[in-house]
Amino acid sequence: MSLTNKTAVVTGASKGLGRAIAKRLAQEGCNLALVARSAEALSQLADELATPLTTGSGIKAQGFACDLSCTESLFKCVDQIKGTFGSVDILINNAGTGFYKPFIDHSPAEHDAIIDVNIKAAIHLTYALLPQMLEKQQGQIINIASDLSTRPLANMAVYAASKFALRGFSLSLLKEVKNQGIKVSLLNPGIIDTCFNNNTPGNQPAQQALQPDALAETVLQLLTQPQFQLIDELTVHPQLQDF
Ligand code: NAP
Repeated sequence: MSLTNKTAVVTGASKGLGRAIAKRLAQEGCNLALVARSAEALSQLADELATPLTTGSGIKAQGFACDLSCTESLFKCVDQIKGTFGSVDILINNAGTGFYKPFIDHSPAEHDAIIDVNIKAAIHLTYALLPQMLEKQQGQIINIASDLSTRPLANMAVYAASKFALRGFSLSLLKEVKNQGIKVSLLNPGIIDTCFNNNTPGNQPAQQALQPDALAETVLQLLTQPQFQLIDELTVHPQLQDF
């Protein structure tokens, strides 16, 4: 399926995997609504992507600064996106947060941050954008979970809980909407070389952490499956990760 002239919402587009996904989709001619809290980073990326010399195609890209943990702001943001782009064809629920430390050292505010962004925002965004897709009998939702959506890890209990929940949501929603032309896919990456959990990108050897650009290529593959074929769930690990 061609992505040219489609419109995608990519959350967590200010850095890391979301930024890499946005760049890769722009190369395919996909218009982009970029969502995260960092307005400056989004606006710079939007300018870069909308420059034909950078992407090779004249796409429309715009940043929508929003704290997705605030439900009211999230729904306002979706209204702004619809006002700017009209119809949305693709939703990439990528924004996420987590802290590697003992459960007991997580504050209640950190519990909320993890649950609100990793699962609640994905559910609310899907709720807000699915009706347009159902009307067209066409649309794709990609949920970026984690290999921790299927396996336990000490010091990541709340994070794993949020990703287990995202997996349950994604696979169950697919059952509900796949006969109406909508594809829902879950991507479970292992360690990615991003700023996640205060990591400094470039710190980890390539065999031990997935590169965002390479994983963005995998997201493109999820989005460009033949018409009546879909990948419901895909796990990708760096070759040397212990899992
Ligand atoms: P990252 O570099 O830390 O990026 C996280 C993104 O989420 C940023 O763009 C951030 O933007 C956005 N975000 C966080 N909180 C937000 C909020 N309250 N409202 C709006 N946006 C928010 O991490 P990443 O590795 O690219 O993470 C992307 C996805 O991959 C996440 O769902 C993560 O759980 C998942 N994942 C990561 C790894 C890994 O090892 N890195 C492994 C498996 C799965 P702002 O700060 O500008 O808001």
